[in-house]
Amino acid sequence: MTTTSGPVGAVRQGSLRELNLAVVLGRIAAAERPPSRADLAAETGLTRATVSAVVEDLITGRLVTEAEPAPRAGAGRPARGLVLAGDGPAGLGLEVNVDYLAACVVDLAGRVRHHTVHRADLRPLSPADALTRLVALAVRARADAAAQGLTLAGAALAVPGLVDDAGTVRLAPNLGWRDVPVPALLAGHAPLTERVDGVPPLVVDNEANLAALGELHAGPAAPASFLHITGEVGIGAGIVLDGALFRGTRGWSGEIGHIPVRPEGRPCRCGGRGCLERYAGQEAILAAAGLAEADLPADTAATRLAELAEAGSTAALDALREAGTALGVAVAAVVNLLDLDTVVLGGGYAPLAPWLRPPVLAEISRRVLTAAWSPVTVRPAALGADAAVVGAAGSVVRRIIAWPSGWLARAA
Ligand SMILES: [Zn+2]
Repeated sequence: MTTTSGPVGAVRQGSLRELNLAVVLGRIAAAERPPSRADLAAETGLTRATVSAVVEDLITGRLVTEAEPAPRAGAGRPARGLVLAGDGPAGLGLEVNVDYLAACVVDLAGRVRHHTVHRADLRPLSPADALTRLVALAVRARADAAAQGLTLAGAALAVPGLVDDAGTVRLAPNLGWRDVPVPALLAGHAPLTERVDGVPPLVVDNEANLAALGELHAGPAAPASFLHITGEVGIGAGIVLDGALFRGTRGWSGEIGHIPVRPEGRPCRCGGRGCLERYAGQEAILAAAGLAEADLPADTAATRLAELAEAGSTAALDALREAGTALGVAVAAVVNLLDLDTVVLGGGYAPLAPWLRPPVLAEISRRVLTAAWSPVTVRPAALGADAAVVGAAGSVVRRIIAWPSGWLARAA
C-alpha cells in the first residue's frame, strides 16, 4: 500500500481546534441515534459554545447536516440531531481482479451511491490496458457522484496481490502482474490525482485488506477482532485486531492461500506445494465439481456452484466439502496462532458459506485447542462479494472522519 502515515498518527501535531473537529465528528459518526449539540457537549466534556462552533464548521464544510426533527408532542422546539452529510465528500473505490473491474462511490455515512462492475478476463491484457479500462469506470463514477452533489476526496484501489509502500504491485500471481508501478501508470488521470490534505489521491492496497476494512465498517455488529477471508481464484485474508488492520512488518500479512494444507501436495503458482489455494481456490473447487473452467465464466462460478449445491448435486457438494475441509485446516492454524473468535467468509466464499461452514467448523473443533469451551463463529461477509471495492471507498471516507481538517481546509 502507499504510505498512509496521515495526520491521524503522531506525524502531525494538530491544533486544539483540529482535534475538537475530529472528536465531535467521530462522535456523530459512531452514534446510533443522531446526537444533539447538548448530547455532544455532555459526551465529550467540551463546552456548549465550543461544540456549537465546531458543529457550525462541520456543517459549513458539508461534513454534517441537521437531521429532520422527530415530531414531538407537547410544547418546545425539538433538539435537532446531527448526522453525517449525504452531499459532501465521498470516497472512490476501485478494484482490479482476475475477471472483473469495479468502481464504487461511498458517502460519509457509508452508503454506496454508485457501483459499476465490468466483467472481463483481464489476464490477457497488459497492466496498462487493464488500468486504462479502470480509468473509464472511475470517470463515470465521478460524473455520477457529481450529479448527486458529492465530491470525490480520494480513491483506493484494491488489487489481488502484494503491494509495496510506493503502490507498486510487486506480485499478483493470478493476474500475472509483477512489479507494476500502478501510481505511475495512473498519473495524470483525473479523478485519481487530486489531493485533499490528509487524504492521498490514490492508495493501492491488497483486496483482502480492503475487504476486511469494509467488513469492519459495515455496521455496529462487526466484532473488533476477526479474520476475513476472500475466496476467489486466489485466497487472501485480512486480519483485524482490536479494530485495526494487522498488516505485518512489511504490509504483506494475510497470505492464507499459501499456507500448506498438504506439505507434499499439488504444486502451486507460488513455487511451493500443497497450498490452500490449490484445494480451496475457485479453480480447484470447479475442477473437483467437474466444471472445467472453460465451461463457465469465472465471475459466475460461485453462484453456479451454490445453485448446484442447492439442487443437491453430489459432485458440487463433495467439492465444497473437500474445499471446506482444506480451508478449515488453514483457518484452525490461524485461530490457534492469533486467538480469534470470528471468521468471516467473503468474496466468492460468501454465497458458498452454507456449504463451506460445516467442514470449516469441524476442522476448527478438531484442531483448535480452545474450541471445546470457547467456540469460534464462522459466518458469511455482510458485504458479500463487493466487500473489497466498498471497503476501498470506505477507507477514503474513514480517513476524512478521522481527520476532517484537511477536507475543511480545501472546502474553505
Ligand atoms: Zn502457493
